[in-house]
Amino acid sequence: MYDIIIIGSGPAGMTAALYAARGNLKVAVLEQGAPGGQMNNTSDIENYPGYELISGPELSMKMYEPLEKFGVENLYGIVTAVEDHGSVKKVITDDDIYESKTVIVATGAKHRLLTVAGEDTYTSRGVSYCAVCDGAFFRGQDLLVVGGGDSAVEEALFLTRFANKVTIIHRRDELRAQKLLQERAFANDKIEFIWDSVVKEIKGNDTKVTSVSIENVKTGQVSTQPFGGIFIYVGLDPVSAMVADLGITDAEGWIPTDEKMQTQKAGIFAIGDVRQKDLRQITTAVGDGAVAAQAAYHYIVNNF
Ligand code: FAD
Ligand code: NAP
Repeated sequence: MYDIIIIGSGPAGMTAALYAARGNLKVAVLEQGAPGGQMNNTSDIENYPGYELISGPELSMKMYEPLEKFGVENLYGIVTAVEDHGSVKKVITDDDIYESKTVIVATGAKHRLLTVAGEDTYTSRGVSYCAVCDGAFFRGQDLLVVGGGDSAVEEALFLTRFANKVTIIHRRDELRAQKLLQERAFANDKIEFIWDSVVKEIKGNDTKVTSVSIENVKTGQVSTQPFGGIFIYVGLDPVSAMVADLGITDAEGWIPTDEKMQTQKAGIFAIGDVRQKDLRQITTAVGDGAVAAQAAYHYIVNNF
């Protein structure tokens, strides 16, 4: 029986593990991939205090390395369900069932699909959701980036290292991204914008994307423009299916909590991007993790 099982090894989960293990609790982290979560898909992180600039994979390893020293069990597993049996919580993976006094859900969020014709057909053949993973394959090409948030603008800037030209298409005439990123994009000679417009269809030949059909939402005018690749950053959906049966999610799947990260089920906490909240950042994820570990500790002291 564990004191705390943390599902997900992104910045939120790793911070919760660090704080819990330093409190001398028996802690396991269940992760389905490499530690670091979304940080592994991020080239340059410039807003994590203490580092002027650090790559996502490097920050991931810096957060991961101390965990074993403090006795955290890092386990591989895809969690498919969590059952609440009062004082015992069962965390179920494809291969095992783990028991714990508390559970911290730190499963993050995943990129949203654009859901247009051609997206599915050309995924990995010119359609990508990860500039860090795929950018280098598009050397010298003209690329389209969809979205107006931090991800779209930041990753468009990253893609200029490889591309001939990067065009950002946004459905409004004003970006959502933070001002500093906007200023950099506006000042970058390789970046152009298509405003008030949406992608209607992604077109290609037998092997890859060749063009994109674009509609101006104000005029209704449709045009087809050549692109060698399209990177989609239109927001995030919560990764919370494994706790859907617990009834702790809102209508969209985000998990509401109180300020101690406590969900509607006693002893089950949620932290990081999967939580219903305003600002999804590494700093807010690690803050959530520290608070939840402390709250779980007090829950255990009071109930066992
Ligand atoms: P995640 O990082 O998403 O980690 C969740 C983990 O849970 C993953 O490792 C996943 O594999 C695991 N998991 C999910 N489901 C299961 C399951 N069923 N079983 C087992 N494991 C599971 N923020 C910044 O502060 N600065 C930046 O520069 C920045 N750049 C970004 C760039 C991009 C392109 C994106 C998409 C985001 C960026 N962010 C940035 C946001 C930041 O990455 C997130 O806010 C942060 O990673 C959230 O941490 P998390 O631990 O909540 O979730
Ligand atoms: P986001 O902030 O939700 O932005 C999504 C963008 O896509 C918005 O501009 C939105 O348009 C647009 N969009 C949504 N659906 C669309 C559709 N169907 N068709 C066309 N456009 C669509 O998502 P994000 O940029 O991925 O960021 C997610 C979180 O990670 C945020 O909290 C962000 O701050 C954080 N993040 C931080 C950094 C950083 O700190 N450097 C970097 C990346 C991400 P509207 O603007 O019109 O709604």
